[in-house]
Amino acid sequence: MNSPAAPATGPVHEDLARLSLVDHHCHGVITADLAPETFQSLITEGDVWPASGITPFDSPVGIAIRRHCAPLLDLPRHAPPTEYLARRAELGWREVSRRFLADAGTDVFCVDTGYRPDRLTTPAELAAVAGRPAAVAYEVVRLEAVAEALAAEGVEPDEYASLFADAAREAIEERGAVAVKSVAAYRTGFDLDPSRPSDADVTEAARRWLASGRTGGTTAVAEEGPHTRPRLDEPVLVRHLLWTAVDLGLPLQLHTGFGDNDIRMHRVDPTRLTDWLHLTSGTIPVLLLHCWPYQRQAAYLATVFEQVYFDLGLTLHHVGPVRARAILEEALEITPFRKLLHSSDAYGIAEFHHLGALAFRRGLAGLLQDRVDADELSLPDALRIAVWTGRDNACRVYGLSP
Ligand SMILES: [Zn+2]
Repeated sequence: MNSPAAPATGPVHEDLARLSLVDHHCHGVITADLAPETFQSLITEGDVWPASGITPFDSPVGIAIRRHCAPLLDLPRHAPPTEYLARRAELGWREVSRRFLADAGTDVFCVDTGYRPDRLTTPAELAAVAGRPAAVAYEVVRLEAVAEALAAEGVEPDEYASLFADAAREAIEERGAVAVKSVAAYRTGFDLDPSRPSDADVTEAARRWLASGRTGGTTAVAEEGPHTRPRLDEPVLVRHLLWTAVDLGLPLQLHTGFGDNDIRMHRVDPTRLTDWLHLTSGTIPVLLLHCWPYQRQAAYLATVFEQVYFDLGLTLHHVGPVRARAILEEALEITPFRKLLHSSDAYGIAEFHHLGALAFRRGLAGLLQDRVDADELSLPDALRIAVWTGRDNACRVYGLSP
């Protein structure tokens, strides 16, 4: 049996290593050279510990960066963090990003443009960085950002519902978006009344929310400087947002599980969406993102609900290539093979577009190859599962041509 982290051999490994991936949920890279502290804050979902001298490099993802990213910057494997950061600064963000994105072997990016505290590449810029001729990017519209922009412009409570839907439709059309996204997990979690709120309830909730002046999300817009926006965390309006997604008709990406400490982890178990999934059955595809530590719950939902799909974005690079296989094995215990997709959920640094792809390819190839070697799976079936998961499932859900 191949060691999961070592370069492994066998036809499934070779096929997956060559496969042009669809990264169905990611973000752009920061278009600036990063101070060491900024880079280190970007490689953790947690707080940093600067006074201790211990950095976020001392974590599974930090070890994975030193092992698997350092060689692409012409450094030895396991290069120390200081050398890594110095070499990164020497090469500059554009060359660093080019190397990682070229090596990731991803040709389709679905880019969530809703979270932008930094100046990031646009979807088209992200696709162009690697210089891969076939690379394309599509946009994913974050619905909370649409609602918050509407509130910032000023809206009457009784017009909120219709103007929000209009603004979302306009954003989708203008940007040629292939999906919408919600961060309801961050705002209320999934302990929501699953039913569609009445018009009167939405108007009343909009009145409360607009009058509350609650602020939270800071948005740095290069031309305007940082400013604050209302933060959509009103439970009826979050519920309304999810139902608006159903009306919009595009696939809905939903953050679940792993995220920074703004999450209340016990409220973002995707099985808490079960009643809502019953009510929305037969409508839009729902894509559960990240999922850890609820990958088995997500797998269950994807198995029993026709409209549910999921991925392990963010999770696979944070656990690193060694552990990625175990997470993928749990994700695939009972799941129909058309339901799991690849994403990196990389944000800000191209190391994560690269590591996400690497962990996915190696983890999936390792588990499929072993099943082929044990004669529990035929080679043609293994190759088909690899291509479906890395590319074709996303193409089917989003209507993209492979
Ligand atoms: Zn994301």
